[in-house]
Amino acid sequence: MDGTRMGAADAPFYLPQGDEVAVFEAAAARRLPVLLKGPTGCGKTRFVAHMAARLGRPLYTVACHDDLAAADLIGRWLLKGGETVWVDGPLTRAVREGAICYLDEVVEARKDVTVVLHPLTDDRRILPIDRTGEELEAHPDFLLVASYNPGYQNILKTLKPSTRQRFVGLEFGFPRPEHEIPVVARESGLAEDRVAPLVRLAGKLRAMKGQDLEEGVSTRLVVYCAALIAGGMPVERAIRAAMIEPLTDDADVKAGLRDLVTAVF
Ligand code: ADP
Repeated sequence: MDGTRMGAADAPFYLPQGDEVAVFEAAAARRLPVLLKGPTGCGKTRFVAHMAARLGRPLYTVACHDDLAAADLIGRWLLKGGETVWVDGPLTRAVREGAICYLDEVVEARKDVTVVLHPLTDDRRILPIDRTGEELEAHPDFLLVASYNPGYQNILKTLKPSTRQRFVGLEFGFPRPEHEIPVVARESGLAEDRVAPLVRLAGKLRAMKGQDLEEGVSTRLVVYCAALIAGGMPVERAIRAAMIEPLTDDADVKAGLRDLVTAVF
């Protein structure tokens, strides 16, 4: 839950794909901000939740969108019972408490957000709050983590070098089958031997990225599909609902994908 401090024992399950745990720990120890790059649904958010619990730090997660402004992160004056009171936003809370602030899909946010991040991500580690005149020095345990999906080919929405070069970068991809099968089995409750063909199908769908599909199928969708099957839905119906419909609206592409399913199963 946002802002609560969890211990390592309650850390949400995360199966590492490489050395990301060690890199993240090293960055946290040196107070360096971390940028997670990778497609949607490949485990970035889960990784941050896992690391926050491991490090025993509270976590504030903000899903960025194109209307999200700096004030949403920093805070605002609110009227409460006839009085105007200042209410910290999630970033300010994290800076004060020594928490991790995770800005998911940071490129989606408005431009003024990056302006706020700059003094926080260099060795000043300060958050100027214009509206109160306060200049907050970050708690030693404060850590900024951001994610973005380099796969979305949107020139207007890439991170500027002046911003991205303030972060240590970690690249995420879809897990290899030997990782994805146990992850999906554990998350869905479906046995590994029944998950294996779904993961094989996911591999084939991912290979179509850039041709008929904008984005490959995420691990999240494979988990959904396996969960539907574990709940009793026939395999083919579950695949259609969780691994085809969410990928495309194009009838021809859908028909092509269904042929692929028949070939795999
Ligand atoms: P992202 O933040 O990259 O969009 P998430 O972290 O929400 O994706 O991952 C989606 C789902 O995939 C998670 O809820 C989890 O079930 C599963 N998942 C993906 N990779 C892993 C992993 N390495 N360990 C555990 N679960 C994973």
